[in-house]
Amino acid sequence: MCCDSKRRFLLLYATQKGQAKAIAEEIWQQAGAHGLEADIHCISEMDKYNLETERDPVVIVISTTGTGDPPDTARKFVKKIQDTTLPPDHFAHLQYGLLGLGDSEYMFFCNGGKTVDRRLQELGAQRFYDTGLADDCVGLELVVDPWIDGLWLALKEALLLQKEKEGMNNLVDAVTSSPPPAPHVVHELNLSSEVQNLKLEDEGAKSSDVLSQKVDDVNLVAPARNTQPSLVNSVPPLSQSALNIPALPPEYIEVQFQGPHGENPHLSSLISEETTFEVPVTKAVQLTREDAIKTALLLELDISDTVFDYQPGDAFCVICPNNANEVEELLHILGLSEKGDDFICVKVKQGTKKKGASRPQYIPERSTLKFILTWCLEIRAVPKKAFLRALVECTSNAGEKRRLQELCSRQGASDYMHFIRDSNVCFLDLLRAFPSCKPSLNLLIEHLPKLQARSYSVSSSNLYQPGKLCFVFNIVEFPACPARLISRKGVCTGWLAELVAPLLHPSKNTLNTKGESFSTEKISIFPRPNNTFHLPADPSVPFIMVGPGTGVSPFIGFLQHRQKLREQHIDWEFGETWLFFGCRHQDRDYLFKQLRCFLENGTLTHLKVCFSRDSSTAEVAPPKYVQDVIRLYAKEVAKVLLEEKGYFYICGDKKHMADGVSDAVVDILSMEMEADRLEAMKILAMLREEKRYLQDVWS
Ligand code: FAD
Repeated sequence: MCCDSKRRFLLLYATQKGQAKAIAEEIWQQAGAHGLEADIHCISEMDKYNLETERDPVVIVISTTGTGDPPDTARKFVKKIQDTTLPPDHFAHLQYGLLGLGDSEYMFFCNGGKTVDRRLQELGAQRFYDTGLADDCVGLELVVDPWIDGLWLALKEALLLQKEKEGMNNLVDAVTSSPPPAPHVVHELNLSSEVQNLKLEDEGAKSSDVLSQKVDDVNLVAPARNTQPSLVNSVPPLSQSALNIPALPPEYIEVQFQGPHGENPHLSSLISEETTFEVPVTKAVQLTREDAIKTALLLELDISDTVFDYQPGDAFCVICPNNANEVEELLHILGLSEKGDDFICVKVKQGTKKKGASRPQYIPERSTLKFILTWCLEIRAVPKKAFLRALVECTSNAGEKRRLQELCSRQGASDYMHFIRDSNVCFLDLLRAFPSCKPSLNLLIEHLPKLQARSYSVSSSNLYQPGKLCFVFNIVEFPACPARLISRKGVCTGWLAELVAPLLHPSKNTLNTKGESFSTEKISIFPRPNNTFHLPADPSVPFIMVGPGTGVSPFIGFLQHRQKLREQHIDWEFGETWLFFGCRHQDRDYLFKQLRCFLENGTLTHLKVCFSRDSSTAEVAPPKYVQDVIRLYAKEVAKVLLEEKGYFYICGDKKHMADGVSDAVVDILSMEMEADRLEAMKILAMLREEKRYLQDVWS
């Protein structure tokens, strides 16, 4: 799309789960109100823009995925700019501003953005605005909102600079002197001004009216005896504060109900560019004892009738539905219980004020209402402030309305963080807490994100078990809390656990003629190959695996594969293998006791285990965590990494384990090389660069 060159900037987004795209669209939307126009493109659409010739400022919004990788959509772009033959002034003509999205719980926070930022700098591009790094762990909006606020002035200055360079000062004046916007711009400004200021100061009769109205409202939600704030309850000063609330997002989806006749689309149509396979679950094993804190299950899938292929170390995705009871409850709240099986047609609302509105790709144009609520929308998502803002309009009780306004206002930012985000309050929780809120269906489609398929690491080898794919997972449990009175299970793991219950607890109906349990349940999966987390190409190279809890899962695949290779190639040389495994209790959650078999047949050379919750009577307490055990083998670990050019793999919990293990490795390197910590950290960075220190971590 071509914009007026006086006010144009190029806006690129690189998104994995849609957040970077949504933020870029927000910027695009707001640009008009600032007298600017953006050419917006996904960074992968390289035929639609050209940074080599781009003269206008460029704004890039980019997220991070995997272990610090740029999103898949940015791979080609990153590869292109990383071409080492490019001269250092390749982008000397370019002015850019970059907003990176990430999660500080992961190693390499915002690395996608940092990589692009660094490379653009190396190639001579100039930042016209400080790079923003937003952290999903504490709330992206904490950085995103002020970054966007400041963007407009910076863009105008960048445009001025650009035009000055081009000797077009006459045109620049039009932008910098901020003339009264053209009539259509004024219109947009009113509609999309970033905050709709509900000023309650005594500024005259009108405002005072508003004030008394609001105070009355507050009394409804916060009776005098309620002095503690909660999701539904606010206390002074917030309850009496003037509020700056976001502008009401324009509605853009229209839903038409049709009859009950038709056929729902295939699940594969919900996944872009992927091939999905519907495969039977052939086995389910509970790996933990009933009294273990978490329940781990191993599932075996039969992929023999498909072309699904994998290598040990790969992950794959499971397409999962929302919980059926939650879908029913939602239908009930929406007043659509009777219409769940009716087909609906989802279209962009005619005359919508939302710029560039389009039907989300993951929403079929025609399907039943239940299909959309079950397979397409993440109904457990934590509602964003824009959604809360939209919900205000559908809430009839004045007290509830005020509280929702507070929760999406600037003044209520910490209440939002505390009572919604940190408490993982989902949309359904909110509807339960605010019973007079009756949103229309189009709002759900506009504001709820895509229901993501969940990833799992493969825990088998196709050499060892041809035609089978195994994986291991913990059933995620969320206990009840003040904001949510009922406990619940993870969307995918809860569903899988229910699905395979007949295999775990066989009854007469689920036993075949041989007395074995069987199931006819199928699940839809698609590949998510891992480019690096694989066995070393050279089998003679030693490697170390660190996989506590379900993190051991891909290493079972590694070891199965290695065992088969040893059987098939008796003349090959095989390097030593180390596995550090840990769990809470030796008796309750030692997931794979058969690790001993790998040890006994020589596939595994060293197995080191620890149990964090078992009490010990030993004089010297045994190590509790894998990182503690690794430290006991400092010399051996250093030898594998430094002398034998070996590999180090970590898999499992990112929050508590992976950082601890990295710390231990840095200490080991520093000790064994008699170098300071900084030097040791550089060595670790080098090992990562050489892809010899590899992580596959998840929360
Ligand atoms: P969800 O419903 O998605 O909930 C899980 C997360 O949502 C929580 O961790 C938390 O962040 C948040 N959450 C939602 N509600 C609440 C609440 N009320 N309180 C607190 N937090 C809440 N997992 C395995 O078990 N085994 C594997 O082999 C494995 N491999 C993976 C490989 C990769 C590459 C990746 C990215 C992830 C992997 N995972 C693995 C994690 C897996 O994809 C899922 O995230 C996990 O199984 C939970 O899915 P779920 O739908 O059951 O839970």
